[in-house]
Amino acid sequence: MTTAGSHLAGNYHPLPIRLVAGSGAWVRDAEDTAYLDLLAGYSALNFGHGHPALLAAAHAQLDRLTLTSRAFDHDLLEPFADALSGLLSPLLPADLVLPMNTGAEAVETAVKAARKWGQEVKGVPAEQATIVVAAGNFHGRTTTIISFSTDEDARAGFGPYTPGFRVVPYGDAAALAEAVDATTVAVLLEPIQGEAGVIIPPAGYLAAARAVCDEHGALLILDEVQSGLGRTGTTLACELVGVRPDLVTLGKALGGGILPVSAVVGRREVLGVLTPGTHGSTFGGNPLACAVGLAVIDLLATGQYQDRARTLGTHLSGRLDALVAEGLLAGSRSVGLWAGIDVPADRGTGRALSERLLERRVLVKDTHGHTVRLAPPLTISQDDLDWGLDRLTDALR
Ligand code: PMP
Repeated sequence: MTTAGSHLAGNYHPLPIRLVAGSGAWVRDAEDTAYLDLLAGYSALNFGHGHPALLAAAHAQLDRLTLTSRAFDHDLLEPFADALSGLLSPLLPADLVLPMNTGAEAVETAVKAARKWGQEVKGVPAEQATIVVAAGNFHGRTTTIISFSTDEDARAGFGPYTPGFRVVPYGDAAALAEAVDATTVAVLLEPIQGEAGVIIPPAGYLAAARAVCDEHGALLILDEVQSGLGRTGTTLACELVGVRPDLVTLGKALGGGILPVSAVVGRREVLGVLTPGTHGSTFGGNPLACAVGLAVIDLLATGQYQDRARTLGTHLSGRLDALVAEGLLAGSRSVGLWAGIDVPADRGTGRALSERLLERRVLVKDTHGHTVRLAPPLTISQDDLDWGLDRLTDALR
């Protein structure tokens, strides 16, 4: 909302708090009041605010080299691609890494690669290619991506829309199979829908998506911008169900909460269609991004953040289930250290709950309507998590 006299565009409606500092799972306002951050930058802050290893990597690189553009190579670009490919190669054919900046750019890159692969390799005539996506998706804010959004707020007013997308209900394997045909170059899904409220598809859904893609020679693209990099107790969410995508999009936590870093990772045959001049970004794969990204990959390679997300996640889901049993929540869905909770209609909206939690020094944000997402930093202590959940219980009562 734009306040009179403000020069800031009004495309957000933030909670009434102005932050000046952060450390670990805690942030502070100008009065030095501490707040527990249970949103963690929509999972961009999986390692918390100011993780020492990430800050050290960024500080060191700031004094060396920060930007070359892709007109020139730099000494961290290949190491970054090697490391990310190495981290992910047990989970998918991680042959090539294409670095970008934001999550939306990674998704756009995957869409472009799939279409070009569809024409050049699969042989789908230009203008006929279809990409099948799911209702309730959130893949970013660009014109093409909002063209296949089912959220009217995100979509209305921005036409004309990019054609070539078929939307099917999320979690419905039969509807997906129905929509995929010879023109389909890709199926693009979030393995768990984050913005929709941490919606976990039925068992077997992603495997069915994989099978239908194989049957029709289409690519399976999983958007792990929010679900990936430790959040679900695994490096990628698709690991939970053992499904190997052809391409995966990453973002958010890849930049360690320091700067935007995203990437598309996947099969050589697919990303290989993007030749010089066909795609790019001034900032994608810049030295600072690669330095921080490499440090993020090092943290993930230890497995300890995934372990924390699993252990603390079990604790989190137990406490949330107890709130459901008590009638204080209408529903709760969680995986790893990631939860969507539904506020009962008679206890106000998700926004109202977020405001009551703010008064109690806990930061969360509604996703929409009555749903609030919890995504604490994976570095949070169990005591701090319990402190936050005690305040959630209080705010619901
Ligand atoms: N994909 C998913 C699954 C996301 O959750 C988001 C952001 N919420 C994006 C893409 C877009 O990322 P960005 O805001 O960095 O463009």
